[in-house]
Amino acid sequence: MSKAVIIGAGIGGIATAVRLAVKGYHVTVLEANNTFGGKMHEFWLGGYRFDAGPSLFTMPHLVDELFALAGRDPKEYFTYTRLNPITHYFWPDGSHVKAYADATKFAEEAERQLGVPKKAVQDALAKSNRLYKGTADTFLKKSLHKLDTYLSPDVLKALSCLSDLGLTTTMHEENLKQFSDPRFVQLLDRFATYNGSDPYQAPGTLNIIPHLEHNIGAFYPKGGIYAIAASLVKLAEELGVEFRYNEKVNRILTTKSKVTGVETSSSTYEGDLVVSNMDVVPTYRRLLPNHSAPEKTLQQPRSSSALIFYWGIKQSFPQLHVHNIFFSQNYKTEFEHIFKHKTISADPTVYVNITSKAEPGDAPRGSENWFVMVNVPHNQGQNWEQLTADTRQAVLIKLNAMLGTKVEALIEEEQILDPLLIESRTSSFGGALYGSSSNNRMAAFLRHPNFSSKLKGLYFCGGSVHPGGGIPLCLLSAKIVGELAPAAVASPVKPFQ
Ligand code: FAD
Repeated sequence: MSKAVIIGAGIGGIATAVRLAVKGYHVTVLEANNTFGGKMHEFWLGGYRFDAGPSLFTMPHLVDELFALAGRDPKEYFTYTRLNPITHYFWPDGSHVKAYADATKFAEEAERQLGVPKKAVQDALAKSNRLYKGTADTFLKKSLHKLDTYLSPDVLKALSCLSDLGLTTTMHEENLKQFSDPRFVQLLDRFATYNGSDPYQAPGTLNIIPHLEHNIGAFYPKGGIYAIAASLVKLAEELGVEFRYNEKVNRILTTKSKVTGVETSSSTYEGDLVVSNMDVVPTYRRLLPNHSAPEKTLQQPRSSSALIFYWGIKQSFPQLHVHNIFFSQNYKTEFEHIFKHKTISADPTVYVNITSKAEPGDAPRGSENWFVMVNVPHNQGQNWEQLTADTRQAVLIKLNAMLGTKVEALIEEEQILDPLLIESRTSSFGGALYGSSSNNRMAAFLRHPNFSSKLKGLYFCGGSVHPGGGIPLCLLSAKIVGELAPAAVASPVKPFQ
């Protein structure tokens, strides 16, 4: 029976495990930590539950299709509801917009609250939809490093919207062409942070991102984001995948130009295929030290990281929802701090995620679990202790002013996550959340492919490789690996009866 070894049980590794098991491989997943999920894990602080990393869930059909692929009914494993409104946006001037799931209602709200023409909002979302539909099949769903991709009719679709893609303008410039209200431009620019990029550098192409949230929708999984990983691990185990925890891979083993397996401190695992869900930079540096590394790819600028304050708040805030954004006064300065000066501005945009709004059991009665996040640079040796202390103060000052309360007095539980911890817990290079950034118009082509062209049998999935970071793209990376992997020498798993 063909064997596949997967390094890492992040969402990309788990989804790849499911796909390879369905394809007939005997799959072993080796995970350095004592549990699965990687960035997508959960923890409790007293009576408060927190999703440690991702909080926004889009494109749920990519999870459903894994269950369907294995012949299961997704609803028996994993359910979710559409969020409406999706996000509450607050500006320092006191304005407030509820981003409704329904595009017309959202456009009406933007007109009412900010004076932005309703039609302009609808046109912007329609354009985002058009660009996504024109490009996704080529740029997200297939390897960009295989000739077949360029011979497919999908390329014609992508070429037909080339002039609209904004390849030569920045995302911010594209948004300015459509809107004069700086607040609405800020709202649209913020979508660059969904893959850790800077709207003042990233190409206008990134304006396909609002389509995912506003046209397809944002969802809340029952049990929290962690339920995505947990339900897929359950499925994978039913398909015979073996998960081994506290099993850190130290080397990928090769003979001539083919992988043969991996080595951990306690054992050797043979594999016809090895799939690395570990960040691609340490995969080359630590697991393949004697092989030449694709330096240009590995040296692409990293995406942003995050500083998170997990706060158990002993009060309830009816004006807040699951996703809340408190914007900075000067967005450009904020991004210059992150990407140019490698530090954090004194007035950062603050994101507050409160899952107890959707799932009351996540906090004691009358209290809320606040996941308070600020975008920060990836780790390059900054003084994180000082930056964390300064930013905590800045966040409190901002929230106090914008909510008209004294937040610090309400904090009864606290934990902090910084880029150093993200790096040490998941091996993500520099603690970057999304691998390399998209601040360069060639970024999509400069991400590492999902396979090695030098070592036969070596594949890559997860947020540091094509098509990029974030839950949906990690799931797509698994899909591409599943399609690229050769047929297993065994009959595939029979669909569930
Ligand atoms: P990772 O989660 O990076 O996991 C890799 C796994 O490999 C880890 O478990 C690690 O321990 C293991 N590993 C590493 N090296 C070895 C080794 N040598 N041997 C064995 N195991 C090893 N995405 C969204 O879609 N929406 C969001 O709202 C969002 N917000 C985010 C907020 C934060 C704070 C963070 C951290 C991330 C966020 N993301 C978000 C990004 C998203 O979480 C990631 O893109 C995704 O979870 C990464 O999955 P992955 O498959 O790349 O694996």
